[in-house]
Amino acid sequence: MQLYWLFFVLGRGRRVGVFVSKGGTGILFQILITASKELPPSEELMLQLHSLLAKVGPKDRKFGVKARLSGALNVTVNLMKQNIQNIKLLLPCLQVLRVYSTNSVNAISLGKNGVVELMFKIVAPYSKKNTSLLKVALDALGALLKSKTNARRAVDGGHVPILLAVYLDWHRNDTRHRHMLIRKGLLVCLRNITNIKLGRKAFVEADGMRVLYNSSTVSESETYTWQIIKALMVTSCVSSLFNHQNDDIETDLNKLHPKKNPGRPFEELRVYERFFLELSEDFQVRGRGVKQEEGSPVNATRHIQSPLLLGGIATRRVGGGGSNWGSDCGSEGTEDEGGEGAVLEVPDTALLLPMHDPDLYVEMVKGTNSVPQYAEVAYPDYFGHVAPTFREPLVERVYGVQRSKIFQDIERLIHPNDILDKVVYDLDIPSCPVIEDSGESLKFNSQFESGNLRKAVQVRKYEYDLVLNSDINSNHYHQWFYFEVSGMRVGSTYRFNIINCEKSNSQFNYGMQVLMYSVQEAISGRPRWVRTGTDICYYKNHFARSSIAAGGQKGKSYYTMTFSTNFSHKDDVCYFAYHYPYTYSTLKMHLSKLEALRTPQIYLRQDVLCETLGGNGCPLLTITAMPESNSNDHICQFRNRPLIFLSARVHPGETNASWVMKGTLEFLMGTSPLAASLREAYIFKIVPMLNPDGVINGNHRCSLSGEDLNRQWQNPNPELHPTIYHTKSLLQYLAHIQRAPLVFCDYHGHSRKKNVFMYGCSVKETVWQSNISATSSDLQEDLGYRALPKILSQIAPAFSMASCSFVVERSKESTARVVVWREIGVQRSYTMESTLCGCDQGKYKGLQIGTRELEEMGAQFCVALLRLKRLTGLRNHQHLLDLESDIIGTQSKVVSPTTYVMEEDEPSFLEAIDYSAESNDEDAEPENEHGIEVHENPEHHDHLSDSETNHRD
Ligand SMILES: [Zn+2]
Repeated sequence: MQLYWLFFVLGRGRRVGVFVSKGGTGILFQILITASKELPPSEELMLQLHSLLAKVGPKDRKFGVKARLSGALNVTVNLMKQNIQNIKLLLPCLQVLRVYSTNSVNAISLGKNGVVELMFKIVAPYSKKNTSLLKVALDALGALLKSKTNARRAVDGGHVPILLAVYLDWHRNDTRHRHMLIRKGLLVCLRNITNIKLGRKAFVEADGMRVLYNSSTVSESETYTWQIIKALMVTSCVSSLFNHQNDDIETDLNKLHPKKNPGRPFEELRVYERFFLELSEDFQVRGRGVKQEEGSPVNATRHIQSPLLLGGIATRRVGGGGSNWGSDCGSEGTEDEGGEGAVLEVPDTALLLPMHDPDLYVEMVKGTNSVPQYAEVAYPDYFGHVAPTFREPLVERVYGVQRSKIFQDIERLIHPNDILDKVVYDLDIPSCPVIEDSGESLKFNSQFESGNLRKAVQVRKYEYDLVLNSDINSNHYHQWFYFEVSGMRVGSTYRFNIINCEKSNSQFNYGMQVLMYSVQEAISGRPRWVRTGTDICYYKNHFARSSIAAGGQKGKSYYTMTFSTNFSHKDDVCYFAYHYPYTYSTLKMHLSKLEALRTPQIYLRQDVLCETLGGNGCPLLTITAMPESNSNDHICQFRNRPLIFLSARVHPGETNASWVMKGTLEFLMGTSPLAASLREAYIFKIVPMLNPDGVINGNHRCSLSGEDLNRQWQNPNPELHPTIYHTKSLLQYLAHIQRAPLVFCDYHGHSRKKNVFMYGCSVKETVWQSNISATSSDLQEDLGYRALPKILSQIAPAFSMASCSFVVERSKESTARVVVWREIGVQRSYTMESTLCGCDQGKYKGLQIGTRELEEMGAQFCVALLRLKRLTGLRNHQHLLDLESDIIGTQSKVVSPTTYVMEEDEPSFLEAIDYSAESNDEDAEPENEHGIEVHENPEHHDHLSDSETNHRD
């Protein structure tokens, strides 16, 4: 039979497609099977058939299945076994085998049939002969080795050292880099083998680390295979399937329409009346409707030691005398150094920081309940923070930093004798710090409010590995850190590696620095956090995460965030933090100071909404203007002001949200005419810290129940999620009395995007983003939800309209924003996200964000609310909505509301960040990041540590 005609017919790709669609592949396989029964089969025919199949295979998605079902796999394999020296026939067979092997079931079946061994017979040392054959064979072998049983076969067959030797041979001889694909093919085989534990062991035993290290450091220019080598050397090859398709958009129209029924009987909600005294206040009897702060009903009998340590600040000396005043972890020894009157001079920050008072702070700390029962106060929280006046630009990363840092890490394995591996701090050991001060190691401490550092290991003289604590009652969410360092040497560069980070990427790769606070600087009159750190980068490391800690996913590893820094003062005590700390005690101090700003024109009431699991009060503020007089008209105007409901800090690690809230609160309590108008226009209800326990205990995301409180809004449990339960109840109460707020906004921080922006809820924009068919009535939506972000983009320099999104995602159905929108019926229900990093547009373009900018954002939010009101000049709600949408509609021309940004809004960095993208392990789950949520198993999803997508609220 002559099949040559088919070659001509199939010449072009499109014709192959037609051939496949007409069942051509099946026919070819039938011919192959028939032909194979002739003994011996015609070599010529086999050659032609395999050449054709090699052509058709890549175009037929079911090629692998068809081959297996027709029995063609064995025909090809047997043919190869019998013709291993027959290059002419072997090549097309290998080309077909390469396609067969991409099917994982085929790969296993071929492995059983001895094909892995067969491939190793073909893979040969450097030779210029038959390079194309070798390349195809390596491709096929690489595909076969994705199967773990095949990888095991390769290990058992002793092929790991052979592959390494062959690789080295090619590396040495291919000096002109003509055969990169062969070298890459060999590395892919090695990488797939090291996907199994046994493979990693064999790789290390064969000295693979050194072989690859040497081969990749010798010639710096060889970046070609660097990505794979790096992946191999850190022996963590987890697939990261970049899937840009978004299946997270809510497509159930019923879920997109606001619920009409608030769902709870009014009788249950009536108790919340007491938080809305202003709605019934008559001002006739008691004069001011102002109640003193109830004070948090916390355990005040806890044993507190002398002032700041709550033991020690008054006695710790600054510099001189050789006394190292790094804090002791215990709480003893508070008096021993006090003899010489070495009282720490507290910087006088009263002028710089009118809202800060160190003594008041310490008082507040005494009423704060922490799980570890902290007895110390961190100096930065005690002294306060004055935003520096200098600019802090986003840091440009030097090309090659990641590479050099990873090489340093790998050198630990190559030269183990150079490594100290000395544990210098460990919370798991009661007598921490575990070492005596020899002057050779830094001292660490994290035992204070919001502190987070679990362990510090001195790796080299000036290098430390740091391990963060997971959130309490959880085994992940390692992101927030806040710790103290002392015993440093001036002039030496220290490298710090936080080695158990979880997210696949970080703004630390895009210009963000850590924050550092120097006590010496503070005492010299510069109490402030400054952005610091050089050689910062974030990369995957070789520490494997247990599947429990990875939300049930296997084969995940941790990430390292590394930075280097110098210290400028001898005998200093310095602090490092992920972002500007803002503790619960700071909030209480701040709220107390706000009282002092009250004027006769301001109505300010502070209530305790409820108590948290940890026994801390959750403050609730009411701010508005006093009525102009006791006249009925004025009292009526007072009671009928629209409500604005604000909350913040449900996620403890998002401290920026508290700074924005600080800006809002201070603006609202201010004396400016704008502030006065604003108070006259609205009643503000504010829950400034929805998760006090998480904040106090140094959590990143959860409350003490180990849950993300911003995923509990649909069904908050009064015992487990009291702050959410009662905040939602307040809103339900308002809905019942027909006083649902005009605006609801929950302040958050965003760790993966720049600028400040909002998420809102729009049926239309959600429908637009999905493919669901909607009736035109679904698309009749007034555009009022766009007004506030639009105004903000005009007046707040850090705010970016382009980053806003109004799409309702399924994964967000239990967030404050979506629940308040759907259940309470608040059209303007938002999450406001502030970057932890910096801005890439507007006045602050190219700068890292600081507390001044964050506070300004909070103030501008207020101004925007006033403009929202003035935009219409109408008090009538409904009219306001209509008119506003007219204005916004014509201004912004919402033609393509495609502000739903799926991917990280980062340019790809010169040095690729994710080096495991090529790995495609059949057994590994795709990583759940990049905006994709796992829906098949919603329960599972809740536990994913990487569930932070670009939309995290
Ligand atoms: Zn958040």
